[in-house]
Amino acid sequence: MDNSRNVDFDAVVIGGGIAGLQSALDLADQGYTVAVVEKDASVGGKMIRLSKVFPTLDCASCITTPKMAAAAHHDRITLFTYCDLQSLRRTGGMVRAEVQQKPRYVDAHKCIGCRQCEYNCPVMVSDREQGGFSPTKAIAIPFSNAIPQIAVLNPQHCMLCGRCEKVCPTQAIDYFQEPRSFTLTAKVALITTGFEMTTLGDKPQYGRGRIPNLIDALQMERLLAPHGPYNRVLRPSDGKVPDRIAYIQCAGSRDKSMGVSYCSRVCCMYAIKQAMLLSGALPLADITIYYMDIRAFGKGYEQFFQNAQAMGINFVKAKVAAVEPGPDGAVRLHYEAQDGDGVSTAEHDMAVLSLGLIPAWNPEGICPLATGPDHFLESPRPKLSPVATVMEGVFTAGAAVGPKDIVDTITEAGNAAMAAGKYLAALRASSARKHLVA
Ligand SMILES: Cc1cc2nc3c(=O)[nH]c(=O)nc-3n(C[C@H](O)[C@H](O)[C@H](O)COP(=O)(O)OP(=O)(O)OC[C@H]3O[C@@H](n4cnc5c(N)ncnc54)[C@H](O)[C@@H]3O)c2cc1C
Repeated sequence: MDNSRNVDFDAVVIGGGIAGLQSALDLADQGYTVAVVEKDASVGGKMIRLSKVFPTLDCASCITTPKMAAAAHHDRITLFTYCDLQSLRRTGGMVRAEVQQKPRYVDAHKCIGCRQCEYNCPVMVSDREQGGFSPTKAIAIPFSNAIPQIAVLNPQHCMLCGRCEKVCPTQAIDYFQEPRSFTLTAKVALITTGFEMTTLGDKPQYGRGRIPNLIDALQMERLLAPHGPYNRVLRPSDGKVPDRIAYIQCAGSRDKSMGVSYCSRVCCMYAIKQAMLLSGALPLADITIYYMDIRAFGKGYEQFFQNAQAMGINFVKAKVAAVEPGPDGAVRLHYEAQDGDGVSTAEHDMAVLSLGLIPAWNPEGICPLATGPDHFLESPRPKLSPVATVMEGVFTAGAAVGPKDIVDTITEAGNAAMAAGKYLAALRASSARKHLVA
């Protein structure tokens, strides 16, 4: 893990979310060596940060952690975490990935993940991994089931007090660590860089992220997670148990003013899932989903939607036009319902914006891959080879190609590994033939 001595691989996978991990495992299990390059300090992508997953309501962490661990412990997979991809080029029949590893200020080979540095650090900082709702320390393991379990020091907040260095039992703290650049060479590459969400601040009508108790859906995933910031669902501004919770659908998708005219596909289903989990956690709460259309597109999804209706979740077919702060921390919505009479107003204790999904990575200036009008990666043959790219020997899968759920992501990741494996097998066969002729 994080071992850069072996720099020649059969495949390099860019992005260690569930798509990248699945592709890496599928290739490694066929006998190929794989490097996984991940920009975060842990692999796992968005899935490890979710609470439970639709439509089965499996615990996300319980089904993602084994995949992360399987990749980390696989003999033929090497994880390169906390790494930025600088360039990806095809030269001399090989793919060359120039990578820069960011400094953790902790020696990855010495850190044993004991968290003594974290426990003794006196500086509290807002924990991005917990939706910003609870604190972490200026030096910390990113989250409890992060892989690898290596601490990261945040140089913006560290006071250089030296406590972490004094308590570290393996002398792993290195305040002078520098970024480290290296080249990974492989015969094929897989791009699985996934998605980000549009930000709360993008839409002035929704308060530009300044309305208390108006949160995004990934933050709600953390409130619902078993090891979330409060261990229960509480309103962030004052710790009140919310009685009235609203979901605002298409709050960043199908909206030309946001530059996201497409449907983000998973928002209907994750809002329904979260509403069901909330009604389990808060049986007396009123939960309302304001939606334009419900797109329950996958196997078992329509039944999931019907189950939510049967549980008493309110569905209001309406477009929420504006959101503003209400009295006592409430969130006030102005909406036009399809069967209503003009604009109505409703107050909720808290509200969740189902934001749009946008690509996490732009290849411009890094490699000559093509993107579509939605800025996601595009295959030259999207129907018959959806995992191909315009670069020979470079494949793609998952949310890097467009918004998709976990089932479709896993299927596509397997497909990309199969296409890459086929390409590698053809290369082996042709070099064996050349050897025979020589
Ligand atoms: C709020 C919410 C709830 C959801 N709930 C569900 C659910 O219940 N069920 C379901 O089926 N789906 C759900 N989804 C969708 C699910 O999250 C995606 O299907 C899944 O995460 C896609 O996996 P991925 O690996 O393609 O992308 P990601 O999970 O985004 O992983 C991509 C990885 O690539 C890394 N990366 C990005 N750029 C680079 C770079 N340049 N270099 C190196 N690494 C890079 C990222 O750090 C990340 O680790 C939900 C989505 C949201 C937003």
